[in-house]
Amino acid sequence: MRFRNFLARSMAGRYGTDQLNRALNFATLVFLVLSLFIGRSGVGSLIWLLALAGLVWGSFRTFSRNIPKRRRENEAYLGLTRNLRDRFRGARDRFRQRRDYRFFRCPSCRTWLRVPRGKGKLNITCRQCGERFTRST
Ligand SMILES: [Zn+2]
Repeated sequence: MRFRNFLARSMAGRYGTDQLNRALNFATLVFLVLSLFIGRSGVGSLIWLLALAGLVWGSFRTFSRNIPKRRRENEAYLGLTRNLRDRFRGARDRFRQRRDYRFFRCPSCRTWLRVPRGKGKLNITCRQCGERFTRST
C-alpha cells in the first residue's frame, strides 16, 4: 500500500502513457530482440542504439510534466498513422467475421463489401459506387 501511494504521488502531474508510447515500447522491444540475434557489431550496434533511444524517449514522455505538448505529439502520431491503423483494423474485423461472411472488393472502386457466407452465387451491388458483379459465396 505504501509503495502504491509512493507510485501515485510520483506520477501526479506526469503525463503517463498513450498510443505513441505504446508504439515506442513495442518498437523498443522489437529492436532489443533484433539486437540480441544480430549482436552488438555493425548494424547490430545501430539497432541497439535505436532500442535505447526508444526506451529513453518513451520514459521521457511518460514522466514529462508538459502534458499539452505530449498530447499534441500523440495527436500528430495518430494522424500520421490513421490509414495504416484503419487498414489493420479492417483486416482484423474481416478475420473475426470470416465464418459468417465473405468479403469482396468492388472491382471498380476497391471498397470492401461484406456478404453472408453460403448463399450460392450472389449478385452484389457496391454500396459505394453502384457497380454490380457476381461472386459465389
Ligand atoms: Zn464500388
